[in-house]
Amino acid sequence: MKTSHKYVYFFGSGKADGNAKMKNLLGGKGANMAEMVKLGMPVPPGFTLTTEACIEFYKRKKKYPPGVKKEVETHMARVEKIMKQKLGDPQDPLLFSVRSGARASMPGMMETVLNIGLTTKTIPGLIKKTNNPRFVYDAYRRLIAMYSDVVMEKAAGIEPEEGSGIRARLEALIDKVKKKNGYETDLDLTAEDWKSLTVQFKKTVKKVLGKPFPDDPMKQLWGSIDAVFLSWFGKRAVSYRRIEKLPDDWGTAVNVQTMVFGNMGEDCATGVAFTRNPATGDNNFYGEWLINAQGEDVVAGIRTPFAINNVSKVATNQHLPILQKSMPRLYKQLDKFRRKLDTHYTDMQDIEFTIQDDILYMLQTRVGKRNGPAAIKMAVDMVKEGLISKKTAVSRVKPEQLDELLHPMIDIKAEKTATKLGAGLPAGPGGGVGKIVLTADKAEELGTKGEKVILVREETSPEDVHGMKPSQAILTSKGGMTSHAALVARGWGKCCIVGCSDITHVDLKKKTVTFRGKVLKEGDWISMNGTKGVVYEGKMPMVATGPEKNPSYKKLMAWADQIRRLKVRTNADTPEDARTAIALGAEGIGLARTEHMFFGDRIWAMREMIMADDIKGREKAVAKLLPMQRKDFYGIFKAMNGRPVTIRLLDPPLHEFVPHEKPMQKEMAARLGVSIKAVAAKVDFLSEFNPMLGHRGCRLGITYPEITAMQARAIFEAVVKCRKEKIKVLPEVMVPLVGTSEEFKDQKEIIDRMAKEVMKKARVKFKYMVGTMIEIPRAVLVSDQIAQEAEFFSFGTNDLTQMTFGYSRDDAGTFLPDYVGKKILKDDPFQAIDKEGVGQLMEFSVKLGRSTRKNLKIGICGEHGGEASSVAFCHQIGLDYVSCSPFRVPIARLAAAHAALADKKK
Ligand code: ADP
Ligand code: MG
Ligand code: MG
Repeated sequence: MKTSHKYVYFFGSGKADGNAKMKNLLGGKGANMAEMVKLGMPVPPGFTLTTEACIEFYKRKKKYPPGVKKEVETHMARVEKIMKQKLGDPQDPLLFSVRSGARASMPGMMETVLNIGLTTKTIPGLIKKTNNPRFVYDAYRRLIAMYSDVVMEKAAGIEPEEGSGIRARLEALIDKVKKKNGYETDLDLTAEDWKSLTVQFKKTVKKVLGKPFPDDPMKQLWGSIDAVFLSWFGKRAVSYRRIEKLPDDWGTAVNVQTMVFGNMGEDCATGVAFTRNPATGDNNFYGEWLINAQGEDVVAGIRTPFAINNVSKVATNQHLPILQKSMPRLYKQLDKFRRKLDTHYTDMQDIEFTIQDDILYMLQTRVGKRNGPAAIKMAVDMVKEGLISKKTAVSRVKPEQLDELLHPMIDIKAEKTATKLGAGLPAGPGGGVGKIVLTADKAEELGTKGEKVILVREETSPEDVHGMKPSQAILTSKGGMTSHAALVARGWGKCCIVGCSDITHVDLKKKTVTFRGKVLKEGDWISMNGTKGVVYEGKMPMVATGPEKNPSYKKLMAWADQIRRLKVRTNADTPEDARTAIALGAEGIGLARTEHMFFGDRIWAMREMIMADDIKGREKAVAKLLPMQRKDFYGIFKAMNGRPVTIRLLDPPLHEFVPHEKPMQKEMAARLGVSIKAVAAKVDFLSEFNPMLGHRGCRLGITYPEITAMQARAIFEAVVKCRKEKIKVLPEVMVPLVGTSEEFKDQKEIIDRMAKEVMKKARVKFKYMVGTMIEIPRAVLVSDQIAQEAEFFSFGTNDLTQMTFGYSRDDAGTFLPDYVGKKILKDDPFQAIDKEGVGQLMEFSVKLGRSTRKNLKIGICGEHGGEASSVAFCHQIGLDYVSCSPFRVPIARLAAAHAALADKKK
C-alpha cells in the first residue's frame, strides 16, 4: 500500500502534531504555535502546510503535490468540528487567517491575510450573531485590503509605483471619509461608513486590478495560501534573504488558523510584547497593546499603542491606560505565560496575543530581536539565573552586535547647544548623522556610494529594506517600538527613532520634511540620538563610546576569552592606538606600520634621502630619521609593556613621499637647496604605472639597504632603552612583500647585523624575531623555503587578495558592488576572506611553512582580522593570532570564541 506524504500538521485544543524542534518543516511560527499548545496555552486552532509543500510547489511549476488539497480539507473539518462553526456558513461562519512563517523570522517579509471567509453570504449571519455591524464591516474592509494587496497585486507580480499600489489607494478612500466627516482616527468611523467603504473598495479593486475581489470563501483561502508560497520568491523576500544571507531553498510554511478578534468591543484587545526589554535587556515584561483593535493596528502605527505596564511606558503613552490596570486578571495570566515561555525557551521571546470577549489567546512566540547591549545583558543574566551555560551565553551574542557598544554617539556637548527638531521613540541606540533622503531607492543609491544619509519616512515597510541597510539611521513619524522600522533597525543595531510625531508632514513630491512648521529639504543634514530619541538640525560631531563601564560586557568577554584559542592582536602605529586596543583586549600588536612615521616634519629628512644621489648622502639623511624612529618604537613598546609587537619595515613606494604639485616642489627645492628641475626629475623618475606592483616593500630595502639598517637599528636601540628601564619587550621585525626566500635572506642579514651591533655596543643581549608578510602568491608557494629563514608569517590579506584576484584594491570599487549584486561573488573579498581562493592559499602556506619549521608563528594582519567569518576561518586553518584595528578587537575576540565552540560541536 502506498503511504502518502504528510504535508499538513494540526495544532489547537490541547493537541499538536508538531513541536518547537520542527522549525525547518513547520516554519518558526507553526512550530512555536504547536509548542505553545503543548505547554497548555490557548492558541486558536488551525494547521500548518509544511515547507516541503512549498518546495514541492516550486518543483512542480507552482502546482501542489497530490494529496495536499485533500489533507487541507481533512484538517479544516477537524477545526470546524472543534469550533462548531463552518467556513462559508451563512448563519455562523468560521473565519480564518492565513499566515506565512519561514524557518527564520523575516519580519514583515511574508504576508498575512486576516478574516478569510467573509462574503456577501456570510456577512449577514455574522452581523446577526455578533450584533455588531461595525465590527463586521471593519473586518471585511481589512480582508479586501489585505487580499487585494497581497494576493491580487504582490503575488501576481504587479509592481505599482510608490504610493499608487492598491493598498495606498484604498487607504486614501478611508482618509477621504475621515476628512469629510472631520474624524480624527479610524475609531470614529461608523458601521455605515465602513459598509459604504467596502462597496467602494471592491469597485476600486476591480477597476485597478481588473479582477473582482472573490466572494467565495474557498477561493479566498486558496488564493491566500498560493500567495504565501508565491511570496517566497517575491522581490522583497529575495532581497531580504540576500542581505541576511539566508538560502533560497528553505521555503516557507503556511499557517491557516481560526480567527480571534481583538476588535469586537471594549473587552477585546490585542498586543505585542517581549519577555524581557529588547532595548536594555532588563528582565521586565515589556510590551504594547491596544483596546478594541486587530493585531496589525499595533504594528502599523495608525494608533499610538498603550504600554502593557508601567515599566513599558515611553514618552508617547504616559497618560494612556496600561493592560495591568485595565484587565488585571488577563494581564496576570499573560505574565504567567511570559515567564513560562522565557524559561521554557531559555531565551527572550517576542509574543503576540489577542483578547476576545475577556479570553486571552496566544498567537505567536519567537526568539525576539534585540540590540547588542540587550543581547549581552540577557545572556549574562540568564547564566546567573541558571537558565543557560556560559558557552551558550557567549554563542548568543553575535560578534557584530558588539559594534553597538563600540558605536559612535553624537557628542553630548554639541547636543546641549544644538537645535532640536523633534523627539520620538528610541528604537535603535547610538548616534546617526546624515543627509535626509525620503525614499529607499535614493537611500540605496547614495548610501552605497558611501554618502551618509538618513532615511526619513512616515513609516517603513519591507519595501524599504534595501534602503534602510545603507542608511546611517532611520527616522519615522509614525509607529511604535514594535513597528517595522524599529524591528529591522534593532536587528541590525542601527540608530533609529520611530513615532516622531513632531514630523508633521513628509512631502514626497516637493521632497521636504516638515518639523512643526520648520521645513527641511532632501539633502539637508540632520543628527540623531537614537538612545534618547531626539532629532537635531545639522551635522553634529560624533564621538566613540567605550564598553569598559558595562559589567555584563566584561563578564561575557571574559568567558569568551576562556573559550577561544586564537590570540587577538591589534594593528596600531601609535602608543595611543596601542593603549586603546589594550583596553579593548588586544594581546599584542600584529602590525605597526612605520610609513606614517615619516610624515609631518620628518618628511624633510625623508625627502633629503630620496633626493640624495649616493649612499653617503642617503646615510646622512637617514641618520636624521633614526632618533625619531627610535622614539616611536620606544613609545609603542612602553605602551605594550611586554606584549609582542610586530613592526613592519617601510612598505609604500617612495613617490608617496614627494610632492606632485609645482608649488610644493618649489618649496622642496628651496628647502633642500637643489634645483626645481632636479626635484621634478626625481618625482618623474619615481612615478610608476602600477605603484601597487612597483618599487615598494622589501624591494625598497634591497635597493636602499640603509633604510632597513636604520629601521632595524632604531627598533633595537629602543629595545635597549626599554631594557634599561625594566620595560619588557618582544620585538618582531617584519619584512614586507617578500616573494622569494632570497629577498628575505637579504633583508634578514641586515637586521641580524644591526641587532649584533646594538647588542655589542650596549653590552646587553635581547631576544627578537625576524619574519615576513605572506602577501604575494609566489611567497605562498615557496613558504617552505621562506620558513627556513623566517621565524614567523603574517598574512597580509589585503595585498594577497588583490594579487590573487588581480583586482586593484584602489579601483575595485567600480565593479565589486555589481559583482556582489549579481552574486558573481558572495561577498566583497576585501571585507570577508575569500575562503575558496585566497583562503586555500593561506591554508597551503600554513602547511608548507610548518613543514619546515614546526613551531612557526602565524598570524594575519589584513583588514580581515576583525571580520567574524574570516576570524573563524583563521581559527580553522590553525593560525596563532589575528590582528585588527583597535575597535574591532572585541569583535575578533568573540568571533574567535564562537569558532572554538563550533569546533567542539563537530
Ligand atoms: P508576522 O509574520 O508579520 O508576524 P502574523 O502571521 O503574525 O505576521 O500576522 C500578523 C498579525 O495578524 C498578527 O500580529 C495578529 O495580530 C494577526 N493575526 C494573525 N492570525 C490571527 C488570528 N488567527 N486571529 C487574530 N489575529 C490574527
Ligand atoms: Mg507579516
Ligand atoms: Mg506576527
